[in-house]
Amino acid sequence: MSKPYQGDTFKCESCGMEIEVKAPCNCDSGDPIFACCGTSMKKQTAAASA
Ligand SMILES: [Zn+2]
Repeated sequence: MSKPYQGDTFKCESCGMEIEVKAPCNCDSGDPIFACCGTSMKKQTAAASA
């Protein structure tokens, strides 16, 4: 599992809410999960549009 890094964006595919990671996860064994509308949010790839 990859951890959230600074600049990563997560989006709820149900309602469209987006969050941006302002600081990376530095914990050793954590598995951060962002959820909205009862489901996990999808990590968005940067540079999707050119
Ligand atoms: Zn939502």
